[in-house]
Parts: sequence; structure tokens; C-alpha cells
Amino acid sequence: MPEFQTSPGMRDILPPESGRWRRFVGIFSDAVTAAGYGQIIPPLLEDVGVFHRVGEATDVVTKEMYDFVDKGDRHIALRPEQTASVCRAFVQHSPATPWKVWYAGPNFRYERPQRGRFRQFDQVGIEVLGVEDPYVDIEVIALAWDFLAKLGLLQISLHLNSLGEPSDRERYMQALKDYFSNNLEHLSQASQATLTKNPLRVLDSKRPEDQQIIDGAPRISQFYSAEAKAHFDTVQVGLRELGIAFVINEKLVRGLDYYRHTTFEFVGGTMDSAQNALGGGGRYDGLVEALGGPATAGVGFAIGLDRTLLACDDEGVFLPVPDDVSVFVVDITGGRQAMLITHELRSAGISADRAYQGRSIKSQMKSADRSGAVLAIIIGSDEVDSSTAIIRPLRSDQEQYTVSRKDLLPTITKALS
Ligand code: AMP
Repeated sequence: MPEFQTSPGMRDILPPESGRWRRFVGIFSDAVTAAGYGQIIPPLLEDVGVFHRVGEATDVVTKEMYDFVDKGDRHIALRPEQTASVCRAFVQHSPATPWKVWYAGPNFRYERPQRGRFRQFDQVGIEVLGVEDPYVDIEVIALAWDFLAKLGLLQISLHLNSLGEPSDRERYMQALKDYFSNNLEHLSQASQATLTKNPLRVLDSKRPEDQQIIDGAPRISQFYSAEAKAHFDTVQVGLRELGIAFVINEKLVRGLDYYRHTTFEFVGGTMDSAQNALGGGGRYDGLVEALGGPATAGVGFAIGLDRTLLACDDEGVFLPVPDDVSVFVVDITGGRQAMLITHELRSAGISADRAYQGRSIKSQMKSADRSGAVLAIIIGSDEVDSSTAIIRPLRSDQEQYTVSRKDLLPTITKALS
């Protein structure tokens, strides 16, 4: 075994898998850019306080953060998610609203690594700041839904809930606290500890021993104000009008504390229940304020790349494909011709590769085959002397043919079109 390997829960993404990652982000960015979202690239590191404000009672913040004191004595953390960074940026730069942004990139959480759960994982996501309109909730959900469909995923269900207005949520929290406190002996140790911090988050427990007591808990829908109900009704009607199927899941409180009104999760049909959420999000009308900004509505989602690609593998869709080149140059005169021709082709926007170190024609032809190229250009000393080149089609029965060197580029361009 080599001396150095990736740390637990961290992976090298190699070709062709890395090409699939790039296409994933490309499809996502095309879709959200076309809907008026601009890209934000926040730093990987933030003041640890940014995340503490966000989720004081969450495992993500209390147990799983990669935080440390830097050489300037600042307590900082590798971001465990990006919504907090987006809100911090909003407070810092005061952009005009609605502020519609998208992001892509890695996050870090010190979790127990397993299938679909890593310590470094990538997310794509969007956030809309400054609009309370329920039609934004619908837009955000629809963009995520259409994106997952574009990947070809069929076994996805959308779970939907509303946490109501902050005051509804307060009353609900009190009712939950009373209920769980009266049933304390039936709760796992971990959930008893969670209860003292945030009773809502007990509903998030995936521990089997908690399930019966959770199933009997009061339901948030019993606590909605008229306004909260109207907001949620609009979201549901809109999703139905767009043909987006959903199930109401009143246990869906999401991991972080700042959600209000709509919450949602996209659940994959092929994975273990502890890792089957491919993405999720919701409305977090209190977060910007918690970070020192003006009262600002917010809604967004994050989709996990690693886990969504596992779901793609399971469903046999959006599979990795090698990044083939179009042309492979075989030069048996030492390599200078290959240098000139690949440069000419690449400058004209034609993907081209070559062999090195003056290999035999047989070995170069093998590399040409492996490259996935459609055409090989073959240069021997005869071709150099007569200023010609041989073009050999690699993916058809067509015979090879010779062209003059000056006609090479137009002939290749035509052959590939
Ligand atoms: P969250 O930010 O916790 O709401 O997670 C949103 C999405 O990010 C999840 O649905 C997963 O797809 C992905 N995700 C979160 N944590 C991890 C992890 N440790 N490993 C891989 N993916 C993750």
C-alpha cells in the first residue's frame, strides 16, 4: 500500500468520473442561469461564527465542523454548507433584491464515512434573498425537480412540508417539548440530548427506537396561522399546476434551525433511508437577520453531487463517458509533425491527441484506438517528403486516403462535420 492515501471520507475524482461531475455542474448552471440566477463563489473558509449562528443545535455545527485557529488567531471553519456563506455575503455586500444566486463546490463535515456520506462532498444550489412570495418557493422547487429529471432520474419523490410562521413554530415547539418530555423514557439518549436544545430536531432522528414516539407526536399542521396556511396552499396548488408530484411529510424539519414556511427534500428511490435525501431546502426568513443584516426573506436548496450520482448509477442513467478526442495524430518520424498538426487542429477547435517518445506505429495505432478518436492522421517519411498526410477512419470500414498537407485541416473539418 502506498504511504500516502486520501483521508477517510475524502476521494479523488478521476476521469471519466470527473467528466460526469463537470457535465452535472454544466447542466445545472445552464438551467439556473437561464432562470436569472448569477453565480456566487464564496470562500471555502469562514469565521466559525457564521455557522454557529446558523445551526446552534445541529450536529453539522456542533460535532461535524472542521474548525481551527489560523496563524492570525482567527477561529475559522471549512464550510459545512453554503447557504450561510451566501447570507453572510448578502449582509456584507448589500446587493439589490431579489438576489438570485447559484453555487457549486465542496463542503466539509466530519461524519462517519459510508456509501453516500463523505467528509468532503460537493453541492450545487440556489438561493433567492429578499422575496417572500410563495411563487419563489415554487420556482426554486421546480428548478431542482426539472434538473433531476434532466439527469434522467425517474425514482425521485418530492417530500414537502411547511413549518409555518415563526410564532406557529414556537407554539409547535412548546407542544413538542411537552409531548417528548412526558415520554422521555421512550426516547434514545441522543434524542433526549437533542430535546434540551431543539425539540423540532428530535423529529429528524433516524434512530429506530425513536420512531414510535415520533409517529405519535403533535403535527405542525395543527398549528398553522391563516397566513402560513395560505402560503403553503399556494405552493401546493402551483406545484400541481406544473405537474410536479409531491407527498406531504410533516416530519420534514430539515437539519438546520433557520427554516420557516416551506421545506422540501428530494428522496431517491434506490438508496438506504439514512442516505436517500439527494437534496433539499426551504425558506429561511430569519437567517440574514441572525447574521447581522436587515430582516430578509430567503429560500433555496442544495443538491448533493456525490449522492445524486450514486442514484444515477443505481438507475443506470447519466453514466460516465470518457472524454474522447476527435483526432489522433500518429507520427513515425520522431514527433515534430505531431506537434505541428495537433497544434493546428487544436487552434481550429478540433480536439486532438498524439503519442510521445517516438513509439512504433503499432503502439501509436493502439493509443489512437484507445483515445476514442474518429480519425487518425498518419505521418511517415514519405508523407513528410511529399507534403501529404494519410487520414485513416477508425470507426468505419472506409479505406484510408492521402491528402496534401495544405488540405489537411479543411478535409478533417469536413470529415468530422
Ligand atoms: P444538507 O445541506 O444537509 O441539507 O444536505 C443537502 C444534500 O447534500 C443532501 O441531500 C446530500 O445529497 C448532500 N450531503 C449532505 N451531507 C453529505 C455528506 N456527508 N456526504 C455526501 N453528501 C452529503
